[in-house]
Amino acid sequence: MTPNKEDYLKAIYKLGGMEELVSNKQIAETLQIAPASVTEMLGKLKREGLIHYEPYKGSCLTPEGIQVAISLVRGHRLWEVFLMRHLGYSWSEAHEDAELLEHITPSRLTARLDKFLNYPAYCPHGSAIPHPDGQIDHAPLLTLNLLPMGAASHIRRVKEEKELLDYLQESGITIGCSVRIIEAAAYEGPLTLDLEGRRVQISYKAACQIYVDET
Ligand SMILES: [Zn+2]
Repeated sequence: MTPNKEDYLKAIYKLGGMEELVSNKQIAETLQIAPASVTEMLGKLKREGLIHYEPYKGSCLTPEGIQVAISLVRGHRLWEVFLMRHLGYSWSEAHEDAELLEHITPSRLTARLDKFLNYPAYCPHGSAIPHPDGQIDHAPLLTLNLLPMGAASHIRRVKEEKELLDYLQESGITIGCSVRIIEAAAYEGPLTLDLEGRRVQISYKAACQIYVDET
């Protein structure tokens, strides 16, 4: 299935397209499709007034594009909270079904869902839920692989990707838990963590997708 218009707008938004130009290459990588298809779709989005597009430079969202992207991201993250809190979904299941629901959720439903869930600030994977005006609360984070050996921190966010989420949930990693690196194998080998007092080993690759508080 090829990503639709809404997925493009969401990708541009997540790549920082509210403030700056995002390159076609970045969009192609994020959506995992050929650069030629990206160029074609960006032309369409420009004609519809959803993006500003400068050939060879990149694109950014117009106010209309920002509105669409925000409502998608809000819908996605609120549904994730609902699915995990109320329907017993796993980390990856919630992300998967929220991908579908976000495209068919009218703003009235998003607003009711937000209220029903008591206005959560984060999705279950630790990503901030934007306010209706698009503002996002940012805290300075770094990836776990860059945490100095022995320094104490907390896990705040993980990248939303199915295999990674299953792997991390299996390892007992949750948002908010305390973490310290106690051993790092040579040549980007596995990291041994002290996770809330438990010893847990994870791959270096996974550590690059986990965000922790700066110390
Ligand atoms: Zn999420």
